[in-house]
Amino acid sequence: MPEISPEQPITFSNLCLAEPLIKAITKMGYATPTPVQKKAIPLALEYKDLLVSAETGSGKTAAFLLPTLQNLISVPCKTIGTRALILAPTRELAQQIFNQCQQLLQFTDLRVGIITGGDDFRLQQNMLRRNTEIVIATPGRLLELMEQQTPNFTHLETLILDEADRMLDMGFSEDVLHIANSCNKQRQTLLFSATLTHFGVIKMADKLLTHYEIVALNTLHDGHRNIEQQIIVADDNNHKEKLLAWLLINDQYDKALVFTNSRLQADALRGPLRGQKLRVGVLHGEMDQKDRNRMMELYRNGDVNIMIATDLAARGLDIEGINLVINFDVPRNGINYIHRIGRTGRIDALGVTIALVKSTEWNLMSGIERFLKQSFKRRTIKELEGNYKGPKKLKASGKAAGIKKKETKKKDTTEKVKVRLRDKKNIGKRRTPSAQKTTESISNQTPTA
Ligand code: AMP
Repeated sequence: MPEISPEQPITFSNLCLAEPLIKAITKMGYATPTPVQKKAIPLALEYKDLLVSAETGSGKTAAFLLPTLQNLISVPCKTIGTRALILAPTRELAQQIFNQCQQLLQFTDLRVGIITGGDDFRLQQNMLRRNTEIVIATPGRLLELMEQQTPNFTHLETLILDEADRMLDMGFSEDVLHIANSCNKQRQTLLFSATLTHFGVIKMADKLLTHYEIVALNTLHDGHRNIEQQIIVADDNNHKEKLLAWLLINDQYDKALVFTNSRLQADALRGPLRGQKLRVGVLHGEMDQKDRNRMMELYRNGDVNIMIATDLAARGLDIEGINLVINFDVPRNGINYIHRIGRTGRIDALGVTIALVKSTEWNLMSGIERFLKQSFKRRTIKELEGNYKGPKKLKASGKAAGIKKKETKKKDTTEKVKVRLRDKKNIGKRRTPSAQKTTESISNQTPTA
């Protein structure tokens, strides 16, 4: 590809993508590359191994698909077997990548296939035997097929691991390493993860990538500037149920996603909300694949506009129109929080996220705020104000004031000592400019000390 000078803005046209890809992205409405695309595409086009931190919603799928497809187009190849393999943690994410890939390939002769659990094993074997160039798979089912010797990755040109952190969290580490080790050793490897602060991700990158470059975007502390984050305190789960119903009835949104920490809680919320005539669906890992697909379809096309989900749905899902995310339960850690709220405020869209926090969750919630270095907006619903108002202000401010007082006292003393010592030393002496400067800086500090 031609060199792009640092001053030259990166556009889809100066990335010199093949005509069929340009035609496809134009049809898909992509006018300019997103930040992750600008950084990752030029490097990936040069067959570099990459470790990229980017979240769902940042355009990361096209950031790895476009250079991979471009490389497949520009070097036609007659070898047998798969040329590009993309591993994703969940069936839903694999399906999403598959859909986007199909759209990008619409003006090319390349073929893409999908391998996920819950679908026909034989059809998947046949697809692999036809030497489909691009395969998108979840690790479990792919390994089953590998046990039958069907896939052939000996000529694989690119291996992509999407949401590597999630794959590790789901216990796919061994499976992923096993698959990667059966692939052509000369391949290019692209590893995408929502976070680079996951120790396992770095370890995996060290095992699978060679001389790789890191593209760090959307680190956890970047914040989500297009998402308004709110907190509403609640007395208990009963109070939370009332608040939830109120919010879903009164707040403005196209689609809402409600997160619970357990399947039981997700199921328990469905009845009362349906009782309020709300169009509610539930999505969790204990449902069979057919039901999960049906639910996703209903939500995608808007037949249900409220989905209650466990963390299964927290990652990777890209459903248009989600502009309200409610944490019925506070997530167990900051990383899960990020993934949950990442379902809204995608690309340029605006979103609101609301956490319902009871007293036992307060510390967890403030831990998440500290982790993100953000303070979320406190909101109250007048009609449903409860008894719990957050940690007692008196106690909190007393405590905080106590710490401050101590610090102030300590600093005051030091300043006084400093000034006195200097004054003593300088008695009878004329002030030099530098001595004056010292005095000024001390006296400037004093009021703020
Ligand atoms: P992703 O982060 O890959 O899940 O992408 C989020 C959404 O952004 C998807 O619906 C993509 O189709 C869309 N998208 C990706 N790249 C662009 C782009 N350059 N311009 C506009 N939309 C994009």
